[in-house]
Amino acid sequence: MVAEAEYDVLILGAGSGGYACALRAAQLGLSVGLVEKGNLGGTCLHVGCIPTKALLHAAEVADSARESEKFGVQASLEGIDMAGVNAYKDGVVGRLFKGLTGLIKGRGITVIEGDGRLTGPHEVTVGDATHTGRHVVLATGSYSRSLPGLDIDGERVLSSEHALRLERVPASVIVLGGGVIGCEFASVWRSFGAEVTIIEALPRLVPTEDESSSKALERAFRKRGVVFRTGTPFQSVKTTDTGVAVTVEGGDVIEAELLLVAVGRGPVTDGLGYAEQGVAMERGFVTTDERCRTNVDGVYAVGDIVPGLQLAHRGFQQGIFVAEDIAGLSPTPIDELGIPRVTYSHPEVASVGLTETQAAEQFGAEQVESLTYDLGGNGKSQILATQGFVKLVRRSDGPVVGVHLVGDRVGELIGEAQLIYNWEAHVEDVAPLVHAHPTQNEALGEAHLALAGKPLHAHS
Ligand code: FAD
Repeated sequence: MVAEAEYDVLILGAGSGGYACALRAAQLGLSVGLVEKGNLGGTCLHVGCIPTKALLHAAEVADSARESEKFGVQASLEGIDMAGVNAYKDGVVGRLFKGLTGLIKGRGITVIEGDGRLTGPHEVTVGDATHTGRHVVLATGSYSRSLPGLDIDGERVLSSEHALRLERVPASVIVLGGGVIGCEFASVWRSFGAEVTIIEALPRLVPTEDESSSKALERAFRKRGVVFRTGTPFQSVKTTDTGVAVTVEGGDVIEAELLLVAVGRGPVTDGLGYAEQGVAMERGFVTTDERCRTNVDGVYAVGDIVPGLQLAHRGFQQGIFVAEDIAGLSPTPIDELGIPRVTYSHPEVASVGLTETQAAEQFGAEQVESLTYDLGGNGKSQILATQGFVKLVRRSDGPVVGVHLVGDRVGELIGEAQLIYNWEAHVEDVAPLVHAHPTQNEALGEAHLALAGKPLHAHS
């Protein structure tokens, strides 16, 4: 502990984890210094969650226009004006950025602009100035990873950041990586009219999700004309005057105008003084305990630099947790499995808790039961013309340990699913709850009714 620190909490990085920590710490009466070399809000606000979801919404509007006849509406899709789409996207980001900047200022947080480096357990140096904090929070986030021999040039071979700045709809794209980010961009570009091929080394799209969710997304993508090659490792890429030629294992060559590299995100920790100050690291990530504490007294870490789910809401919650911990409120550690996960493609995939396979591994297959309720029986899903399901995984005679959802807009249902999981609700607790009709939420209620042995809009 330093006797005369400039701040109670000194935070390096103002992304989801860092700024949430700053806002909560200031609310608790602590003095806060927030070091940021880019824009307040970090990846999520500027080049992640928000702009991608704006693109996905524009894609949904395009799909609605294209499919309007299905609903008896005479409209047609004349084309995509990327300048207009980007103006809409940037407008959303701009408004949220302005709001966040105002909030940070309003709470009396000192923003220190510049590239920071940890130069002591209670010290961050920015340029010539050294700032001190009683507690230091590392929150420097993540960057788009590549593969050996794969050069992201920003012209033909793009990262997600480049993809967000594209000023045209490409005629064809290869998406390397069938995880969340890859599937979201594939979905957008397909809705905008591009030919899309996803290459994924693992056997299925969104490979960390329940197998049934992957299969449902694959079926829907196939129907939409998204081509995907799963179980197909990338080998090499050549750029040509007109595009890229990707060779995959086995020798097949796939050509397209652009290649998006979406093979995961690495931690931004290199050269920032963490290792030099004795902070324990593993493969570039910062190691913490369940209270987000590193091995160095007074130094915490939150967000994407900590191994685990790289999600904004995890960063927010860790940031809040650390602020409360520093303020002596003894908050409850975060259950990583209770963090909801959503892929906002068309259709969406959402989940919380264990997949059926994980539950079987953990409790034994005979101790695990699952039930799948098809959205075909859900009025609102029929109105929206979406297909998918709600799948519940529970321990026999125990609580629900996993909820898996597929369908347009099902990401909005994950809030209730998360409560069910985090409160260790039993099927009998949820089945009697009244869900408004007609909503997609009803499908969650129906699934619980069915698992309790009294299905309403499903066959017994
Ligand atoms: P970041 O948000 O990356 O913030 C780190 C900050 O630290 C940055 O502002 C950076 O400039 C700053 N920094 C780094 N080094 C220094 C330094 N030396 N000195 C000063 N400042 C520094 N998550 C979701 O939950 N939902 C989504 O829909 C979603 N969509 C995504 C889509 C894309 C395309 C991407 C790339 C990510 C998406 N994510 C999504 C993930 C989400 O953006 C991250 O999990 C989240 O931003 C992590 O927050 P963080 O605070 O750890 O890091």
